[in-house]
Amino acid sequence: MSATLATASYIGATILFILSLGGLSNPESSRRGNLYGMIGMTIAVLATVMGPQVTKAGYGWIVGAMAVGAIIGIYAARTVKMTQMPELVALMHSLVGLAAMLVGFANYIDPAASVEFTGAAKSIHEMEIYIGILIGAVTFTGSIIAFGKLSGKIGGKTLLLPGRHWLNLAGLLVVIWFGREFLHAESIDAGMMPLVVMTVISLLFGIHMVMAIGGADMPVVISMLNSYSGWAAAATGFMLSNDLLIVVGALVGSSGAILSYIMCRAMNRNFISVIAGGFGSEGGAPAPAGAAQPAGEVNPILAAETAELLRESKNVIIVPGYGMAVAQAQHTVYEITKVLRDKGVNVRFGIHPVAGRMPGHMNVLLAEAKVPYDIVLEMDELNEDFPDTDVAMIIGANDIVNPAAEEDPTSPIAGMPVLQVWKAKTSIVMKRSMATGYAGVDNPLFYKENNRMLFGDAKKMLDEVLAALKA
Ligand code: NDP
Repeated sequence: MSATLATASYIGATILFILSLGGLSNPESSRRGNLYGMIGMTIAVLATVMGPQVTKAGYGWIVGAMAVGAIIGIYAARTVKMTQMPELVALMHSLVGLAAMLVGFANYIDPAASVEFTGAAKSIHEMEIYIGILIGAVTFTGSIIAFGKLSGKIGGKTLLLPGRHWLNLAGLLVVIWFGREFLHAESIDAGMMPLVVMTVISLLFGIHMVMAIGGADMPVVISMLNSYSGWAAAATGFMLSNDLLIVVGALVGSSGAILSYIMCRAMNRNFISVIAGGFGSEGGAPAPAGAAQPAGEVNPILAAETAELLRESKNVIIVPGYGMAVAQAQHTVYEITKVLRDKGVNVRFGIHPVAGRMPGHMNVLLAEAKVPYDIVLEMDELNEDFPDTDVAMIIGANDIVNPAAEEDPTSPIAGMPVLQVWKAKTSIVMKRSMATGYAGVDNPLFYKENNRMLFGDAKKMLDEVLAALKA
């Protein structure tokens, strides 16, 4: 393939990626967005493999690596459960970081590069390598820790080392100092030491940064690492002089940054505070000892009674959470919705921006169950409607409906906007036990007078409710 055709293909792929991002901004157009992305990626891979930068001798390696990658990808896509998706995404981000690191080192020791780049171009190339490895290393270890936290292998609590901000600052100064040493190094051997020191510091910083963020602030970490993985890819593009990689990396990096900002706003958190790990606030920290913990009697309810309450209602709001994903109850939820709507009940869904374990988690599940988009509303769109609601049915949600966020300034989730389900005439919480949610905070909603607890697996309970409704 000629260089001109490769460039034209890259431009085509770039346009498709932009269309893909545009499509993904709305559930109705998201399938089309995915399709554009897939076509764009196929063109990008083919144009790169068949492009002028790859020699015939490299084909064997490339095809072999692609076959191994495809087998792992197909296996993961088939076996990973929907609830494990956030962990998988975190692992994939770590691979982007690792790739950026490896490409950086390979580029540095590549003897061809020392001939290709001289003078100012050499300094710029080395700067790209230094920054690329830095972002890659932070993304790599940060994403591995995020994977550990999301999969429960590492506790969700924050690790707040004494003087942690000074540690970060010292790390930054050392990295800048060694960057100078690296750029002034006379030979590859002399430059290797500062490069390795910076890599180790960046790897440690990635661990430290994500360990210091915890509980309810994790969604920001996920979107932030998403953004970092984009910048790592863009840095790789600079190192390899690959325009497409630069553009795609910048698209992922900037859209991830915008998502982080949206997540922070949704949680009423300051972005800098979150990434610095509770800087200036105790956001995400475990509940302080002695803080008022809700206690008292809870009112249980049976599935048949729940069905009765739903049948008699005019307005129902369903609030899905992580437990609905675990129980895979979305199809039954929609069956119940259809029965109630046929009876003239106004049923709507209230989606909290951080419900579940990844951005848009609940929207994906409800779309999979074919719930019409027009009855799926954002928190801001229906929070004022709870006082006119007969039943708020909370399915496997906990943190996102916790009134302590509004009522208890000492709560670790204080200030986070929540769905005000307790303002409905009756709220019914479906979960298996009194266990806390992801943030590890007790929930006073369970003890409110107008709240009922329907204990059990969400799918099993909803099947019983559906059977009672149809009876
Ligand atoms: P929570 O984690 O607060 O609560 C989920 C609840 O579901 C649990 O209390 C659990 O209680 C219940 N549950 C689990 N399995 C089942 C089941 N099979 N049947 C019925 N109930 C079940 O989830 P929310 O969606 O309310 O809140 C999301 C939390 O996750 C927030 O703290 C958010 O910050 C965090 N987070 C969100 C991310 C995102 O991007 N959206 C990413 C990372 C973290 P029990 O065990 O008693 O059944």
